[in-house]
Amino acid sequence: MADVIATEIRLDIVTPDHLVAHDSVSGVTLPGKTGYLGILPGHAPLLTELAPGKLTYMRDGLPHGVCVTWGFAEVLPDRVIVLVQTAERAEEIDVERAERAKQRAEDRLKRFADPQIDMERAHEALRRALARLETARHLQG
Ligand code: ATP
Repeated sequence: MADVIATEIRLDIVTPDHLVAHDSVSGVTLPGKTGYLGILPGHAPLLTELAPGKLTYMRDGLPHGVCVTWGFAEVLPDRVIVLVQTAERAEEIDVERAERAKQRAEDRLKRFADPQIDMERAHEALRRALARLETARHLQG
């Protein structure tokens, strides 16, 4: 019997506190640690680490954006499971909060000579804030 080729992907995005998406989608773009990764139905199985960024997917012909931070994605031919620390849909992002977080992180990064400042932590906070701002912009087209 011929193999059945999947035409849709079942996408689950899960954080420690909630299920952010449980959808049937036609394609997903993941912010992988080493760059963005486009996934279509029938993709070869893989496991990848994610970095803060914009996850996008198409459902019913419309694009959707979700900001994810650190985590993993498991890709199967008909399923993508995203396990991440935090995830917000573009429309849920508080842009002013993300702007404040960006400003705080940038102020800390300017104080590189201050031993009290954890530079790596400030870099991570900046990456999360930039990912949220980029995802929120997704709504503006
Ligand atoms: P902040 O300093 O503003 O808390 P952060 O990057 O330290 O930012 P996280 O620790 O990544 O925040 O997230 C804590 C919780 O707050 C998570 O549930 C996350 O989804 C939510 N969150 C963080 N920033 C925003 C935002 N700008 N809009 C909506 N939800 C946010």
